[in-house]
Amino acid sequence: MRHGWQGVTLKLLGGRDFTFTVRSNELVSEHLRRLRFGDGGMLGVTGVHPTMWVRLWFERAGRPHQRGYTLVDPDPETGTFDMEFTLHSGPAGDWARGARPGDTIHATVQGTAFTPPDPPPARLLVVGDPASRPAINSLLESMPSTPARIWFESPDPARERGIPRHGAPDREVVHVPRRDGGAHLVRTVRSELPGHLCPASYVWIACDTVTTRTLAAFVRKELGVPGERLHALGYWRAT
Ligand SMILES: Cc1cc2nc3c(=O)[nH]c(=O)nc-3n(C[C@H](O)[C@H](O)[C@H](O)COP(=O)(O)OP(=O)(O)OC[C@H]3O[C@@H](n4cnc5c(N)ncnc54)[C@H](O)[C@@H]3O)c2cc1C
Repeated sequence: MRHGWQGVTLKLLGGRDFTFTVRSNELVSEHLRRLRFGDGGMLGVTGVHPTMWVRLWFERAGRPHQRGYTLVDPDPETGTFDMEFTLHSGPAGDWARGARPGDTIHATVQGTAFTPPDPPPARLLVVGDPASRPAINSLLESMPSTPARIWFESPDPARERGIPRHGAPDREVVHVPRRDGGAHLVRTVRSELPGHLCPASYVWIACDTVTTRTLAAFVRKELGVPGERLHALGYWRAT
């Protein structure tokens, strides 16, 4: 598949291309599939870091569509990793529903860099949703003894388990129902997060693009958190 102008731009930015092969495809729930992949040599070249993600290329109506997905349990020795697809009605979700062992998918690695907070955080303050659940778990597992509070937005909090993936002391999850296109999450975080902030906090935000932008501006401009103590990246676009 050709990757169009986005692929050309990523190449100019140093993007590296790989082809992954589906090893298995498990239906975890009505809304979630977990796929295992062979890495096409990627992990040996790129190494592995917390919250690592890649851009996968899907085809629809003859056009390329690029979507970000996070590596789960990457293993450079076996050249394998999993991905967890929360299912939507777009090219990525449709592909994940039908993928079979032996199917291949193109990927580009660009923009995934992770800079560990320095000094290490005394507390993690995390805002996310099902799209960023794999990244949140990876972040929490990379700092196993750091206390964390996680505001986790989802359409149906009753169905959300597995965050954090492994139990650890001092990890509190606040389940926030998605209402008003993310505005309820914004109100909740605005009222609660300041009470948990300390000078050595690290704030990590990954929700829909508008919510992420709004909360990042709040944390940076109104709370005065310096850029190196804040990571914010929109994970999906609400339409
Ligand atoms: C760095 C990064 C890492 C990511 N890692 C993961 C991951 O590991 N697992 C994962 O499931 N997603 C992950 N995402 C999010 C994923 O790329 C998007 O959700 C993507 O838009 C899904 O593509 P699609 O083709 O299925 O749907 P699209 O064609 O993008 O959208 C179809 C419809 O579904 C809606 N929609 C899309 N995504 C979501 C969502 N997350 N929640 C609610 N509605 C949505 C859209 O608004 C639209 O109406 C990541 C994104 C980034 C940027």
